[in-house]
Amino acid sequence: MPPPLTLYIHIPWCVQKCLYCDFNSYTKPNLIPETRFINALLQDLEQDLALATTSQILTSIFIGGGTPSLLSGDGIWRLLTGIQALLPYNNSTEITLEANPGTADSERFLAYKASGVNRLSLGIQSFDSKQLRTLGRIHSRTEIYQAYVHAKEAGLSNVNLDLMFGLPGQTPRSAVLDLVQAVELRPEHISWYQLTIEPNTPLYQKVGSLSLPGETIMLAIQRQGQYYLATQGFKQYEVSAYAYGTYRCFHNLNYWQFGDYIGIGPGAHGKFMDLDGNVRRIAKLSNPWDYLTRLENNLSVTKSQILSDQDIFVEFLFNALRLKEGFSLGLFEARTGLSKDYLVTKLLPAQSRGLVSLDGEQVQATSKGYQLLNQLLLILL
Ligand code: SF4
Repeated sequence: MPPPLTLYIHIPWCVQKCLYCDFNSYTKPNLIPETRFINALLQDLEQDLALATTSQILTSIFIGGGTPSLLSGDGIWRLLTGIQALLPYNNSTEITLEANPGTADSERFLAYKASGVNRLSLGIQSFDSKQLRTLGRIHSRTEIYQAYVHAKEAGLSNVNLDLMFGLPGQTPRSAVLDLVQAVELRPEHISWYQLTIEPNTPLYQKVGSLSLPGETIMLAIQRQGQYYLATQGFKQYEVSAYAYGTYRCFHNLNYWQFGDYIGIGPGAHGKFMDLDGNVRRIAKLSNPWDYLTRLENNLSVTKSQILSDQDIFVEFLFNALRLKEGFSLGLFEARTGLSKDYLVTKLLPAQSRGLVSLDGEQVQATSKGYQLLNQLLLILL
């Protein structure tokens, strides 16, 4: 049986660059060339479909960025209708759109919902106004609440909140306070992840003056935050992902379970089986203007590479060990085409150090292994 197939769509523009951002995003032009860009995305999809084996219905579509909520309701409708004509999806397909609270309005959210979007991911990052300014976010604390109300009023009943920890001057108490305010909104999902400051960002220039939490405080933040979320019914199922009840994110789950995915848009990545049965990694041209121009001239925007068995082994473990519950040997064989005996042998050194367990068919990082995930991966690879 082919693995589940998902689609990622990258919208590269933002109102302005956040100070910590090293994603493939660009300050938006005065007028986003929405129609041209959506045509280009659909053409990009057609080019991928000429390479891929796609007999499956799409399990999920994720419109990420950048700031997809800069696109109009009509634009999202045209995009999703165009996709439906090329690659079928149905009512059970999870369709997520990322929104910045600074670009949220009720009319737009209603139009997204009417177009088929059924999950909203709000990038709020913190409820602390001072932290929002430090991070260079465009929105205020008040706009977070307004965006959340707009989402629920529009009938978007499945909402994720993206929240960071490890912010300058943060203590376990202030980090948990952020979580308390998130939980009070009763979202269906919380992505709680650590701020990383990359060298090519403006925040990196200020790193010396930021008083970032040290290792001990960071561990206490994580421990107390995880404990708090668990008491509120948010179950951690991946390093940064917490689901209320059954509201896991299918789209991200598919990455972690090494399913197939197509990625369209500037800088998007994909991984799927090609028509010759090879597993291919695909990367799209990053610059949005070059991307547009090339597609408008019927030129390819794709770089592709066939993955070796070793690449597949590494990528599978890199993703699947992030899952709290781990993975089964059956899933390993189905998704990699490699023998489980090979994996079982490779697990032995990590098992003897108490970093990973093999219980029947289930492979799982132990609590110690989960804390030392990078070290565990190095041993396995
Ligand atoms: S909104 Fe997201 S993608 Fe855009 S600049 Fe900020 S962090 Fe980067």
